[in-house]
Amino acid sequence: MYKDALRAAWAEINITNLDFNIKQIKEKVGSGVKITGVVKADAYGHGSVRVATVLRANGIESFAVATLSEAVRLRKAGFLLEEIMVLSPIPEPYIDTIIEHRLSPVVCDYKNAEAISKAAAAAGIIIKGYIAVDTGMGRIGYSDDVTSVEDVKMIAGLSNFKINGLFSHFATADAADKTYATVQEQRYMSFYKQLLKEGIDIPLRTLGNSAAVMEINSAYYDMVRPGVILYGLYPSDEVDRSQLALRPAMSIKANIIHLKKVPAGNSISYGRKFTTQRDSLIATIPVGYADGLPRPYSAKGKVIVNGVYAPIAGTICMDMCMIDVTHVPYVRLGDEVTIMGKDGIYEITADDIARETGTINYEVVCGFGQRLPKVYV
Ligand code: PLP
Repeated sequence: MYKDALRAAWAEINITNLDFNIKQIKEKVGSGVKITGVVKADAYGHGSVRVATVLRANGIESFAVATLSEAVRLRKAGFLLEEIMVLSPIPEPYIDTIIEHRLSPVVCDYKNAEAISKAAAAAGIIIKGYIAVDTGMGRIGYSDDVTSVEDVKMIAGLSNFKINGLFSHFATADAADKTYATVQEQRYMSFYKQLLKEGIDIPLRTLGNSAAVMEINSAYYDMVRPGVILYGLYPSDEVDRSQLALRPAMSIKANIIHLKKVPAGNSISYGRKFTTQRDSLIATIPVGYADGLPRPYSAKGKVIVNGVYAPIAGTICMDMCMIDVTHVPYVRLGDEVTIMGKDGIYEITADDIARETGTINYEVVCGFGQRLPKVYV
């Protein structure tokens, strides 16, 4: 129980495991490849400031976020000199924040780069950003054609916006079949070469995400952008896990806040989906779907109490759920419950929860990271 958390439920973030994962990634990509640590969505729920601190301690001086507020939070936490990439285009009304905090935007059109350059000139600074090229993700970036090259040429001529690199993103690097990833790599290199031919200086190439770090060495180029593997999770079930040893950094824990005997034949929770089949012991824990425990997990979900599995009993509520602890040895009010993580010989992983709820481990950890207090161990 962590009194400071003001509630008997928390996300436990293991700094040693984070550090271990980062070291594995560094070793895998080698010293010639830069790493930007993807810490968007509050570092996939793990807490971006703490994660950035561990990255920094490992010599990583570039972070990538999705939104300006995520970037500003890092600057305000004292990361003043590191590169902070903002991975989505920034509409004109928000450009002043890029200038004020010296962020590194990705740009997809001349007008946007020009507006950034003008604002930077007014502030007497130079902003270094990335040209985004869409090689097959279909999300952001220039299409890889001649008109785009002309546009980038104009950007290269701007006085206060400097091209720091060429950016693109894989759509299927985590699939066993790498055919489409190879097509993306080819488009990427072809666009890069066209830019070079036009005399445009591209100091840095960045394409690879976690899956590419694991399985596509040819796409490391100058800088990789791992996200999910930092946190000890694999990008999919299809990647070869022997490529990288990882340790999950997040566990979700709670204490039993209510415990009672419920006679056979009584229903538990909303919708009366669960009825006690025998005289039962039902515990309540203060974690619900607003804390990231997905409601569809109600049917098949389980937790670990005193070293044994206990099923979730009935529908998960917004802030609490009930568990059937009838068979749990020596169960008492206040006992610690592991919702995700290890307890003794048993473990429940983000992948397990994702599998039971039709989602991916990324969404599970992002969900848990939103409301639960974080405790760093
Ligand atoms: N780069 C970009 C542009 C992204 O959007 C993401 C995450 O979605 C990443 C890198 C990191 O991806 P992953 O967590 O699969 O490594």
